[in-house]
Amino acid sequence: MDGPEQLDLFTRSAEPATPSAPEMKNHSTAKLRRHRFLGKLARPWRVQNALPCVGLVVLAGCLTFIVAPDDEPSAESRLASTLGSLPTVVIDPGHGGNDDGARSHGLREKDLSLDLALRVEKLLRSYSFPAVLTRREDTFMTLPERTAVANRIENAIFVSLHFNHSRDSSATGVETFYATEKVPPESSWAWVGFVSKPEPVSTDIGADLAGYIQTALVTRTNAANRGIKQRELYVVRHTRCPAVLVEGGFLNNVLDARLIANGEYLDRLAQAIVEGVITYQKNRPPPVAPPPKIAAH
Ligand SMILES: [Zn+2]
Repeated sequence: MDGPEQLDLFTRSAEPATPSAPEMKNHSTAKLRRHRFLGKLARPWRVQNALPCVGLVVLAGCLTFIVAPDDEPSAESRLASTLGSLPTVVIDPGHGGNDDGARSHGLREKDLSLDLALRVEKLLRSYSFPAVLTRREDTFMTLPERTAVANRIENAIFVSLHFNHSRDSSATGVETFYATEKVPPESSWAWVGFVSKPEPVSTDIGADLAGYIQTALVTRTNAANRGIKQRELYVVRHTRCPAVLVEGGFLNNVLDARLIANGEYLDRLAQAIVEGVITYQKNRPPPVAPPPKIAAH
């Protein structure tokens, strides 16, 4: 409804009701008085005539709104509406800056992990999941800086993305790690000295999330299933939310490297990770409500 008609209507109603200065010079005082009088009369007349026009425009707008069919909600938005309050997914592309990670067959782990992270982020957003990346550029980040990103968010899950390297060039496949236990991060108030209460950690150490992601990875890529494993890896141990670390294949394996260099394979990895997150969210027990406070007597 933003065509020339509507614009014209408002332009005309804004016209001055009195004549311009050069015209006034040529009029006698009587004519001028008459003109001013007519000008006063003209003002309400214009408002009265403009109102039905405005009414018509509004009515037409309403009819357009009612008659025009709504876009069909996408499968993604329908699914998102069944998943309840969604966690923020913190995606952590491994390595970066002067830390290349694994290198083989002309591939660098830091580039691939960022490429995959951006694909995962785009897909998660299409399902309405809030998503945060620990890095968006080829920059170095310490491990505590990475976990701090997740630990600042109340309802988060953490997914770190890596690619493998082995002395054995026949090693192949995908695997997902989670922590043996969580280490609570220091309270952000600990520097004050007398406040040393550690931040609470999730009782969910990420085993279910790792399982759902690993199953989806194997289904989507047909890669060898190296399973889910518990390891004392810093980023899964020091995040207070459920956290996993995905290894998407071996850069030094010729066949794995050929696949990983292909954007279509990275898309499959991204779809599998998002599918795993969605399955995890669907099966996640609802948060336990805090016990009601009893008033002190
Ligand atoms: Zn790595």
